[in-house]
Amino acid sequence: MQVMMLGLPGAGKGTQASRIHADYGIPHISTGDMFRAAIAAQTPLGREAQSYLESGRLVPDELTIGIVRERLLEPDAALGFVLDGFPRTLPQAQALDGMLKALAKPLDCVLYIHVQEEVLLARLTGRRLCKSCGATYHLVFQPPLRAGRCDVCDGELYQRTDDTAEKVATRLQQYAQTEPLVDYYQERGLLRQVDGEQEIDSVYDEIKRELDRLQSRSR
Ligand code: ADP
Ligand code: AMP
Repeated sequence: MQVMMLGLPGAGKGTQASRIHADYGIPHISTGDMFRAAIAAQTPLGREAQSYLESGRLVPDELTIGIVRERLLEPDAALGFVLDGFPRTLPQAQALDGMLKALAKPLDCVLYIHVQEEVLLARLTGRRLCKSCGATYHLVFQPPLRAGRCDVCDGELYQRTDDTAEKVATRLQQYAQTEPLVDYYQERGLLRQVDGEQEIDSVYDEIKRELDRLQSRSR
């Protein structure tokens, strides 16, 4: 199963993608996570991407397409994948089409998590992540059992440097480059809109119904 998550920053793509990964056993491929890991390790890729992530701007297409092309060739991606945060521009979407054609692994659906912009600032500024395993929390909407510690691995929770009001404003402006993808995938018959303003569990119920329908169709 090849699935892609689409939606504004803070819509809930990562939260839902990690549940899909856990339930369906397909890798969760997040370009944002890949860039953050590269920055933490100060690899050449990380050093190139750092200023873009810190300012909230998109990393250039060439660099981003390159890391996804490599990632999709890893053995676990043969099972399928859930793409989170890629593609974010039309050239990225077209490059992905080419990659998936070459791999004979077409996208099954694009889950478009729809939310009003007004809810995003509170979601993003309250977001916390685990330093060790990357699990996502929210101070109010999805609090950890113990303040500052991860429920899964007891790792330390931190706030992303781009989850501030100022950087969120830049990231929302950058989303203008991603918005055309809604039509792009709608025209290809792949878009499934999900109401992202429900409780996290209810959003996932909607997604699960869609994915189970897909799986039963392909059996
Ligand atoms: P994205 O990957 O789209 O940027 P995340 O999945 O990281 O977004 O979610 C952003 C923040 O909002 C996180 O702190 C997460 O816990 C919280 N969140 C996600 N989905 C919901 C929801 N349906 N209701 C309330 N908060 C949510
Ligand atoms: P995310 O974790 O998806 O919110 O992404 C965090 C940051 O990583 C973005 O603000 C961009 O700087 C960069 N990034 C992630 N995915 C992409 C992409 N597909 N294209 C360009 N930049 C990206």
